[in-house]
This record gives sequence, structure tokens and C-alpha cells, in this order.
Amino acid sequence: MDKGLKRKIIETGRRLGLPQKTVKSLLEHKAEFEFEVCLDRTKQCFKAYRIQHNSSLGPHKGGIRFHPSVSKSEVATLATLMTLKTAAIGLPLGGGKGGIAVDPRTLSKEDLEELSRNYARFIAPYIGEDKDIPAPDVNTDSSVMDWMLDEYQKATKSQTKAAFTGKSINNGGSRGRSEATGLGGYYVLERILENRNEKFPKTVAIQGLGNVGYHFAELIASNKKYKLIAVSDSVGGVYSITEKNLDPKKVMDAKLAGRSVVDFAKKNQDTKLVSNEELLTLDVDVLILAALSDAITEKNMKQCRAKYIVELANNPVSDKAHDYLTKNKVVVVPDIIANAGGVTVSYFEWLQNRQNQIWGKQKVYKKLKKYLVNATDEIHDIVSSQGISYKDAAYEVAIARIARNDGSGEQGIGK
Ligand code: NAD
Repeated sequence: MDKGLKRKIIETGRRLGLPQKTVKSLLEHKAEFEFEVCLDRTKQCFKAYRIQHNSSLGPHKGGIRFHPSVSKSEVATLATLMTLKTAAIGLPLGGGKGGIAVDPRTLSKEDLEELSRNYARFIAPYIGEDKDIPAPDVNTDSSVMDWMLDEYQKATKSQTKAAFTGKSINNGGSRGRSEATGLGGYYVLERILENRNEKFPKTVAIQGLGNVGYHFAELIASNKKYKLIAVSDSVGGVYSITEKNLDPKKVMDAKLAGRSVVDFAKKNQDTKLVSNEELLTLDVDVLILAALSDAITEKNMKQCRAKYIVELANNPVSDKAHDYLTKNKVVVVPDIIANAGGVTVSYFEWLQNRQNQIWGKQKVYKKLKKYLVNATDEIHDIVSSQGISYKDAAYEVAIARIARNDGSGEQGIGK
């Protein structure tokens, strides 16, 4: 597990006055499955993992990613973050994560399906709607979940659709899931700015115009209180010289027609190119991190000029950078609430499948907003009363909730 995450859990446990046993249980995971998945056609084999971290509040919940850098320690860190995320939002779920160390771009569609099915067949005995419910993550999508669910149903001879979330709509997926993480991040940011009586308009830069970043960008660009002045992807960034709102759809169209958001700058004279590093240090009110972990570390933290940094990716601000920035009055909106929209709508999908219901988009949005606004307010109250960072407050809310359910009870919590 990531050292910074470990330290934060220990510090939080100490602040809450929790018994060592409870803290220790969060530093370890409950179960791990490390195996190989192979392809019949090419005979290639890949390392694969599923880690179940904690289930004090409910079944394990967390995505499966396909990426060459997937390792046991990365999966363990992400599984722990899932436990904290579901607890911070108040969902009756625990944390888990899985992955295969593979670059899916090197696979044909048939190989991708075979790999997904083989992975699901291996983990089938250990997961299920009441045990562990996987979902999509980096490089996995609703098709992968549909294949995995089908394989799971065959292996366990069950009919349930609630064993996986993030499925296609026709196969029991929830409306609103694809935009849920961006939308959730927007609700959280709006609430924090409101709670802090911030004045508008706010200039915004977004690192990572992918699924999450794009949906967030659409909301920002459609709200007159904000100005979206820069966006980037893995190739580079584009900046609006006149500080006029960038239109995310037009930027995305240019990206899809070419290869990157930088193609937009080539045809628009009131924009210029910025490097990925420059985008992170722009003088904006709000910087959105929606790409990868460790975007801001000791290397570039001193150059950051944003007043608010929103962690839409997992762990994009390193531990040391977080402490430096918050000491310098930068508000870092932590990943465990900022990007919790996805798992919250996954929870709604699980509920709909179990209750044989289909909810409309507006119902999903309304319930998502309620969960995230309540969680943000709870965390904001701790920030105000204790003068600690939003990350520390979010960890307090999450860990206290787990501890209460873990047998250490209210008395175990020193405050
Ligand atoms: P995605 O692959 O659709 O988008 C990621 C974007 O980041 C891409 O546009 C990519 O080009 C860009 N990028 C990569 N490296 C970059 C760099 N160095 N500088 C600038 N841009 C860069 O992925 P996504 O689904 O949008 O997820 C984004 C992040 O949010 C991931 O870290 C993911 O783990 C996290 N997250 C996603 C969800 C979800 O529901 N999709 C939920 C929680 C957390």
C-alpha cells in the first residue's frame, strides 16, 4: 500500500483515539487473489489480481483495470481508497479492486473478450452481489462488464445482474453512470465553494479531457459562474488567450478528428498550446486533475498557483504536495469525495438490479446530488470546527464510520 495513504490512516486513527486493532485492520486487506490469465490463441499469460480490502460496512466494491503498470501494491492502494470512499459517502459498501497487467490496445476484440471471461471465471467463487461487486476502471468498460457478468452467471449458475456494475443499459446498467464521476465532482466543488462563500466567476483548467474530465468540462462551460480556459490530454494542452470559455464539445470534436486537444489550437487563433507541465501551474482559480496519480508532487508543488485543486483522478496530489499546498491555503478537494460519483451510481445500479427496478436519469442525478452534498457538508463542518484539511476531515468521517461499525463503537472514538 502507498506509504502516504498508510501514514494518513495512522494519523487519522490517532486523532480519533481509535484502538490499534481497528487501525491495523485498515492497513491490511482481508483477502487477495493473485493469478495468471492466459489467451488460448496466442498462449500469452498476464498477471492478474483481485484484492478485497474491508467489508465492515457492506460487500467489497471496486473496479477492474487493464493496464501494463497494474501491480499488487497499486491494486492494494486503490482497494483501500475504495473502502475510504464508500465510507466517506455513507454507502453500505466496503472496498476492493482488481486488475490485469496488460496493454489492451495490443489485443484484438476477441482476445480482450477471452481475457475478460477468463478473469471473471477465476474470481467467480469469491465475488457476488453480497460479497464483492466489481465495476469498470481504467481501460475497461460496459462491454467488459457484460462479458464478465455472463461468465460469472455461467460459472455460478445464477441469474443475478447485481454481481457487476457499470454494465450496458440493456444488460441492467444504470442511467447516468457514464457521466456520474464528472457530475459528482461538479456537485462537490459547487458545494464547497458555496460553503466557503466564494465569489464568482472562477477560472478553471482541466488536466485530462477523458471521460471524467469531459463531463466535468461540459458542466463548467454551461455555467456562467465559471470560465473554462485550459484543457489537456496526454499529448498536450490548449489555453484560451482571451480567457474566453473553451467549448468542450468543439475541443473534443477536434480531438476525435485528430489525435489530441492540441489539434483544436491549430484552427483557433484565440488559443495557444501549453505543455502538460505548464497547465498544472497556470494562474487559475480552480485546477481539475482528471488524468493520473502523482500529477502534483514535490517536483512541481511550489509552482502551482490554483486556489482550489480538485482530485478527480485517484491520488493525483502526492502526500507531501498535499501538506505543502494546504499549509499555503490551497484547498485540495480530496479524491475520496471528489470522484465518488461513479461508485455512488454503481451503488444505485446494484440497488436497481436487486429490486428489479429501472430508474430515470433525473432520479439518479437527484439522489447522487443528495449523497454528495450531505457528505461534503459533513466534511466541511469538520474542516470549519477543527481547522484541518478537507482530506484529513474526509478520512476522519470515513474511518470513524468504519470503526463504529467495526465493533469498536462510539466509545472507541475519542471525540
Ligand atoms: P480516460 O482514460 O477516459 O481519461 C484520462 C485522460 O487523461 C485522457 O484524455 C488522457 O489523454 C489524459 N492524460 C493522460 N496522461 C496525461 C497527462 N500527463 N497530462 C494530461 N492529460 C493526460 O479516464 P477517465 O475514466 O476519465 O478517468 C480519469 C481518472 O479518474 C483516472 O485516474 C481514473 O482512475 C479516475 N476515476 C475515474 C472514474 C470513472 O468513473 N471513470 C471514477 C473514479 C476515478
